[in-house]
Amino acid sequence: MTIQDWFEKRKEAQIQRRALEAKAEVEKNPDLWTKCVHCDAQLLKEDLASNKMVCPVCDYHFRINARTRIEQLFDEGSFEELFADIKPTDPLDFVDTESYKNRIARAHEKTGLNDAVITGLASIKGHRLATAIMDFDYMGGSMGSVVGEKVTRIIEKAIELRLPVLAITSSGGARMQESALSLMQMAKTSCAVSRLDDEGLLYINLLTEPTFGGVTASFGMLGDIIIAEQGARIGFAGRRVIEQTIRQKLPSDFQTAEYLLKYGQVDVVARRSELPDVLGNLLSMHEPVTIK
Ligand SMILES: [Zn+2]
Repeated sequence: MTIQDWFEKRKEAQIQRRALEAKAEVEKNPDLWTKCVHCDAQLLKEDLASNKMVCPVCDYHFRINARTRIEQLFDEGSFEELFADIKPTDPLDFVDTESYKNRIARAHEKTGLNDAVITGLASIKGHRLATAIMDFDYMGGSMGSVVGEKVTRIIEKAIELRLPVLAITSSGGARMQESALSLMQMAKTSCAVSRLDDEGLLYINLLTEPTFGGVTASFGMLGDIIIAEQGARIGFAGRRVIEQTIRQKLPSDFQTAEYLLKYGQVDVVARRSELPDVLGNLLSMHEPVTIK
């Protein structure tokens, strides 16, 4: 046995021993552990949370809900929620495999939210802004009348207060249970963004895992600056639908943030831990200068 083989063997034995120890730990306290969906590493839930829900082994960014995003991104205690009391109705009396009314009730129970977006005022590194944060856990972050109304209202509020707007998206697209009413939100939110532009105010998009459909096709990608979170999947139609339509295999990184950056669809791809600095810098650069 060469000395190199000896070291290799010793290293292997160490790895195996650590794996067994980790397995024993997990069996002792299964509630404390979770598995990385990307690299399969056993992670302590506490470690994952303190690392902003990013896998410390492979850097995979776990999807997070709107409340966690608010806690992670904005200056502590700076978020002030607005328009929280707007609730969805069911004007079409829509029923598919389940009634829309039931789905709304279940989504509310699951998330504590009245619809798939939280809107309000906040600050990042001391810079004030108006913001809309979508929550994928509420009916797949789908955009219905309430999402459209709240996004529009927060943009109008920003115009009134002369503030920049940050829209953080995570959505499967339009809400089919609201049919054409949901599609109209694309035009409505786009008009609001256009008014913001007329007023010369900054509009930033932060696209997070996953951003698709009607949201990508409206306020989600109209930003002056479009940032995508590392690893996020972003597109209009889903990968499978496109593959079936064009009868071709798509590249493995198709519709990832990094792929979109390569083809000029987004301006920046940032890691979750970098976002406060990236956004803080952008906001400070675009702050209006008062000439005395
Ligand atoms: Zn991982």
